[in-house]
Amino acid sequence: MDKINPSIGCTVTQCMYHSRGQDYCSLDKIMVVTHETDPKVDQCTDCQSFRRK
Ligand code: SF4
Repeated sequence: MDKINPSIGCTVTQCMYHSRGQDYCSLDKIMVVTHETDPKVDQCTDCQSFRRK
């Protein structure tokens, strides 16, 4: 993906939506979710739009 969305920074290079060579997502919108019942730290959240390359 060469497109970048400057509003969504991301360093997950294994994702098919990651912008090559830049720390951004290429999607117009992502969905962020939590896998915890009572999230307290950033590690409790996940990008549900992630797809493996
Ligand atoms: S979909 Fe999520 S994990 Fe994938 S590049 Fe975008 S923000 Fe990162």
